[in-house]
Amino acid sequence: MQAFWVLKSSNIGTMRVCWLVSKDRACQRIKLPHLEMVMLGRGPETEITDKKCSRRQVQLKADCNKGYVQVKQIGVNPTSVDLVDIGKDREIKLKPGQILHIVNNLYPYTVQFSEEMGACGGKETVEPKGGKRPQDELETGGMERMPGKLAEMEQMAPQACDSSYSSSSVSSGGSSVNKKPCLEYWAQGLKVSMQNPDMQVYKDEKAVVIKDKYPKARYHWLVLPWQSISTLSKVTQEHLKLLEHMHALGEKVIQQCPEKDSLRFRLGYHAIPSMSQLHLHVISQDFDSTCFKTKKHWNSFTTEYFIDSKDLIAMVKKKGRVTVDKDVAKLLNLPLKCHVCKRQQPNIPQLKEHLKEHWPK
Ligand code: AMP
Ligand code: ZN
Repeated sequence: MQAFWVLKSSNIGTMRVCWLVSKDRACQRIKLPHLEMVMLGRGPETEITDKKCSRRQVQLKADCNKGYVQVKQIGVNPTSVDLVDIGKDREIKLKPGQILHIVNNLYPYTVQFSEEMGACGGKETVEPKGGKRPQDELETGGMERMPGKLAEMEQMAPQACDSSYSSSSVSSGGSSVNKKPCLEYWAQGLKVSMQNPDMQVYKDEKAVVIKDKYPKARYHWLVLPWQSISTLSKVTQEHLKLLEHMHALGEKVIQQCPEKDSLRFRLGYHAIPSMSQLHLHVISQDFDSTCFKTKKHWNSFTTEYFIDSKDLIAMVKKKGRVTVDKDVAKLLNLPLKCHVCKRQQPNIPQLKEHLKEHWPK
């Protein structure tokens, strides 16, 4: 049945108001008066006590006529809409159905517009009739729903199978001006996937393991921390425990693999990741996959472009951060060499044929 809303009393004297509704705390809602700036963050209004959240984390301005809220990130740590970080001092529109996370993908809120009596204020004069209430829709849609825009981007991706290495294909082809926002949006895809129960294989309070959407081998998972760490260069010594935990989760998932005794696995990071949010690859070494298509795919997993998780942890212990050779991207163009017997192969189809020799019998 289609959801619709009826006014209990006459329309005369009512006005539209906007509410920010907490998804964590059912009864918490914050009024956003039409076209007034509201500053939110750590404090009594939101009941957020997390120090990572600034007292002035986010500025909101509702437009009740247009039906959206202009959201500006003021704090240093990321505020996001549908899991896409806004960026400091940048603005984005928040519409009904979307989820605003105040900081670090935590403290989810949605926005609701309703009618209210102009004179008395306070009491709402509308109630749902039939079907779902808007709030129910938000609850069931929520985190699992892929933002429409992202789904579009995915189909537009420059590579048929995934976005990896897409920046090079942009610079070699037409206008980079038009494609850049698309790629930036695309690069946020893991943040959506990590929230999707269909993609999740294992999760605990620190990290989640998901299936790689475009696996380059029979088994290819990604381990991602819940904490927002955009990329390898943001990793410091304070993340050591987390890196070790991610490695342990990778090992745990391998232990549950039906072919664990016959296949070899590697756990590691791409020196220059294409996707946002730190992720550890856990990949079987058969490279038996239709998504493995290009020389760049191959070299990213079989040259020093792939940094073993153990080596990366050792590097962070020693240097306090991750450094990569300035020429590391050149490794992606190296000739195709079998990772087992080191014999060079002339092209991808022949390499794929050759790899079968190394598969378990
Ligand atoms: P990289 O950033 O190069 O370390 O690798 C990103 C990995 O993410 C690749 O193995 C892709 O196949 C995979 N990938 C790309 N988009 C998605 C997505 N939306 N969900 C899950 N995995 C993805
Ligand atoms: Zn070989």
